[in-house]
This record gives sequence, C-alpha cells and structure tokens, in this order.
Amino acid sequence: MTNPTHGNQTHESGIHHITALTSNPAKNVAFYAGLLGLRLVKRTVNFDDPGTWHLYYGDGIGSPGTILTFFPYPGLAPGRHGIGQAVEITFAVPQSALSFWIDRLVTHRIDFEGPIERFEQKVIRFRDPDGLQLEIVADSSAPAVVPWSNMPVPPDQAIRGFHGVTLWEENLEQTARILTEILGYRAAGQEDSRFRFVARTDHAPGRIVDIRHIPGFWTGASGAGTVHHVAFRAADDAVQAAVRERAAHEGIEVTPVRDRNYFRSIYFREPGGVLFEVATDSPGFAIDEPVEQLGTGLKLPAWLEPRRASIAAILPDLGIDAAPLSEEASG
Ligand code: ZN
Repeated sequence: MTNPTHGNQTHESGIHHITALTSNPAKNVAFYAGLLGLRLVKRTVNFDDPGTWHLYYGDGIGSPGTILTFFPYPGLAPGRHGIGQAVEITFAVPQSALSFWIDRLVTHRIDFEGPIERFEQKVIRFRDPDGLQLEIVADSSAPAVVPWSNMPVPPDQAIRGFHGVTLWEENLEQTARILTEILGYRAAGQEDSRFRFVARTDHAPGRIVDIRHIPGFWTGASGAGTVHHVAFRAADDAVQAAVRERAAHEGIEVTPVRDRNYFRSIYFREPGGVLFEVATDSPGFAIDEPVEQLGTGLKLPAWLEPRRASIAAILPDLGIDAAPLSEEASG
C-alpha cells in the first residue's frame, strides 16, 4: 500500500480553499461578508469564463485554510447533494463562540440544526441562500486567523477559517488512499459512517477531511448550492511537484500547472468523483492590491486587462452596499 519513496513524506497539508457555485452574487456577498463576517478578499473573474465573477472570502488576508470562493452564475438551477461531492463545509469558531453564532443565526432567521455532538465537539448545521450545507464547530483548538478592521462580528467570536470538509463517497478505501498517500493526511477515527482524516500540519485552519461512507445513496448533481472543488495546500512549487509525482504513481491523471494569479494549481479528480486541486500558498492575494484594499476593486490578471471594459460591463451587480466590506471602492 505505501509508496516507499513518497508515501510517508510529510509536508504542509490541509485545505487551501473550497470553491462552490451560487445563483445570486449579491445575496452571496450579503450572506458571507455581512452575516458570517468573512472578508471579501478578492473580486476577480473566473479565469476559464471571464464573463462571470470569482469571489473569494477569507480571513483578513485570505490565509490558506480560510478561503471560500464562489463562481456565481445568476439563475443557475439548484444542484443535488449526493455521492461524489464535497457536501458539508465546516467552519471553526472558538469554544465560547457557539452561543454567539446560534443567536446570530436566530436573529437573521436562518434555520439551523443542533448543536449535535461529533468527535466530542459541538456542531451546528445551516444552509446558505443557495442551499449549500454549512456547519460551525466549536473548536477549543481553533487556530488564530488574521482579523480585519471592518469585521462585522467581534474578533473573539469570529470564524477562524475552515475546520474541514465532508466528502460523500460510495467507496471509502480509494478516496482514503488519495488522502493518505498523496495529500499528507492520516486516518483519525470513525463515528458511524463518518471517517476522519487529519492533516499533519499543526495550528493551521482546515486540517480535517471527513469521508461519509454511504454506499447506495444517490449521486450528487452539480448546480447552485454545491461545491465545485476542494483545493489542498502545497507550501511551494516543489511540494506541488511532489504531490503531482505521487498522484502519477497512483495512476491519477493530473492537469499541468495553471497560473491562478494568487496561487499556482494542479487539478485531478479523485476516484470517487470529487474534483481536487493542489494550490501553492504563495503568492497570495496582496499581489495586486494592498492588504487594506483587498476585495474593493475588480482585479484582473494581466492577460485579461485589455478586456477590462467589456468584462466589467457584463458582470452582475454585487449589491456591495448591503454588506459591510472594506473602506471605499478603489478605481
Ligand atoms: Zn480552486
């Protein structure tokens, strides 16, 4: 089972970002920035489809492990949660902050379930406006993240990045093998149909991947309110290349490195059907605007700048005034 040359090599691991689909960019901004208090750290476009937004939320600087991104397609039909998808996205908050979040959801008339107990932690479950399944876990070891000045929730109650993500799978072993042999995770227990895997990186957000092993359940379908892909961290290009080599060794087909401006990425589909990405920690979101202004203006990669006017003209309104973001829109 173990690849003698690479299988036991440790490296920075964990979630880098998670990308999901929304049908309504303005509601999305109001929910994630306004209600959940994440910072909109980048307004750019889908590099593979420049007529659509790509919105990035995170902590004050968009640290790896805190970044949730959306491809908004106005009017996109809802998807269906099922096997072959990353279904639940779980945020961490400090142990003492769970009651704050329950109050906040009640105040904003967001239905929630829980708290339930999972691996000896309390979890509440709720959905975003598109039906994306979110969770908040009270985590006494939630790592510190970078606060920002206009955060609409008190810093000591704020979301501290991802706790993790849950994959729904027909087959446990083949996906577990990808996590442990290629992505640097170790198996860390089971509760009912849930199998936990933990990254070897200490004190970083986004260390958990759970597999819900539910053979026979229906298959997921892509659409609004579903996850598009899960990206894992590579500390640098050399680590990314090593991941690529291990994937090739496992017979997995991997894309060439793609320049995503804020990181460099490779992609592959794990055997259960979930699209995985491996993204470098650098250069990060301050590459094209200062930290104080993150997320305040439309940012385009150099190769799309010549088309700025036509792109800006067709991007849907974000209704940004509805959500407390950063200072003023720049240019
Ligand atoms: Zn991505």
